[in-house]
This record gives sequence, structure tokens and C-alpha cells, in this order.
Amino acid sequence: QADSQLNVSMLPFGDHEQLLLARDISHLNRLEQIRRDFVANVSHELRTPLTVIHGYLELIDPEDVPELAPVLSEMRAQSKRMGQIVEDLLTLSRLETQHQIADERVPMASLLATVRKEADALSQGRHRILLESTAEADLLGSPKDLHSALSNLVSNAVRYTPAGGSITIRWQREPGGAVYSVSDTGFGIPATHLARLTERFYRISSSRSRDSGGTGLGLSIVKHVLNLHQAQLRIESAPGVGSTFACHFGHARLLTPGGSDDG
Ligand code: ADP
Repeated sequence: QADSQLNVSMLPFGDHEQLLLARDISHLNRLEQIRRDFVANVSHELRTPLTVIHGYLELIDPEDVPELAPVLSEMRAQSKRMGQIVEDLLTLSRLETQHQIADERVPMASLLATVRKEADALSQGRHRILLESTAEADLLGSPKDLHSALSNLVSNAVRYTPAGGSITIRWQREPGGAVYSVSDTGFGIPATHLARLTERFYRISSSRSRDSGGTGLGLSIVKHVLNLHQAQLRIESAPGVGSTFACHFGHARLLTPGGSDDG
């Protein structure tokens, strides 16, 4: 078949021989393509009706219908949440089909300041938020996507850390390049969940996550953005102690501030 794709692997067989295993995965790829198109189309179609519903809900003055005020407020919150899920699904669809990313300078000093401001706004003084930036380096990539990835990790740290906890945002050099990390003293994540955390809609406790206002797509978006920047996500966590989410960027993605290539 002209368009067939083979997945080939070698397996040890006996003491000295190896087994060559070839699987035709073209039908799997086609199914994956159908799934992606379906999600993208449904999300796109939901966008307009949701905008209309949200717009009309905003037009109603709760003072005109005091007996319905709590219902109105819940409807507004849920329509906003649905809108966020649709936007996140559209972002994921775009990231999944994208093979290359922009090569723009992303000034880290201002990105870190923005991310910190967002953390402060979300925390509303309930956490101690620290920023330690020692890497004199900017990133090379897509400003919008990097902002959404870095800010997602901070928003998770705030949402999964009880009041009184600490959150530390770091931007540091390391031998292979530089690392952006977010550490929290929050709920932590049991080891059995770590490998699956970046799957779409994967959650440790759906009720806690729903209450915390997320869409279940944040880490999936983070992983895709990092892949497109040839960066790796590493997660360390201990239940009841806290978590660290670290994004490791190679030298090829770093620029000296005001200068050029980092080499
Ligand atoms: P959500 O919108 O549910 O937060 P994410 O994809 O961002 O979706 O995260 C997936 C799940 O990983 C969350 O539901 C939560 O259970 C867990 N998680 C993410 N970040 C943290 C964190 N900093 N501390 C504890 N658990 C976390």
C-alpha cells in the first residue's frame, strides 16, 4: 500500500537472535486524524452559540430578577467555563497539527513579571509567591504559546496549594541550557499519576480540579508547547509536601538579552 506506515521494532529472541517486528500503523494514524478533525470541528461549531449565550447572560441585570440572582451567577460561571474548555480544545488542535514554531525573541524578564502578576491576581494574597530569576537569557519561540505554558504551571500551583502555602517561580541556567520551574507546597501528586498527568482531561480528583476552575487541558497544552520548542517537562512531587514542574530548554532555544544566539 502506497501510504502505509510501518512501526518497526527489534526484540531479543533467544540468546543470540533478534526478532524484527513490523506493524502497519497507517489505520491508527488515520483514526487519529479523524479524532483530531472531529474535536477541532466540534469546538469550532460550539464557539458561536456559546458566545451568544454568554453575551445575553451578561445583559441580564441581577437586580431586575433578584430571586434568580444565584441561578444567573451560576449560569454565567458555567458558560464562561464552557467557553474556556472550547478555547483550550482549539489551542490543543492547533498545537497538535503544528510542526514548527515561530522563531521570535521572547524577553524573559517581562514574561516572568507577567506570570508573577498573574499568580498574585489568582492567589489574592493567600500564598507567598517568590520569583528567583538568575538566568540572563531570553527564549526563542512563540511568545503567545510560551506565555500560556509558563502561566499554566503557575496557575496550577496556586490552585492546588492551600492558603498559607508558598509558590516559587525560578528561571535558572543549567548545564544543557536553562530551566523554568514552578515549585509549590501544595497537595502534591501520588507517583502512580505522574506519567499520565499530561493526557487530555486526566485529573487526580475530578471534584477538586473542577472546583479549582481548570479545564483539564492545561498540562496537555504545556506538553505540546514544550515539544514544539524541543523542551522537556519534568515533574517531581510528593503527596502532602508539594510539587515542582520544570521546563528544560536547550541552548538552541536561548538568546542573550539584547544580544544574539546563545550558541
Ligand atoms: P486542571 O484544569 O484539572 O488543573 P491540568 O491539565 O492543568 O488540568 O492538570 C491536570 C491535573 O494534574 C489536575 O487536575 C491536578 O489533579 C493535577 N495537578 C496539576 N498541577 C498540580 C500541582 N501543582 N499540584 C498538585 N496537582 C496538580
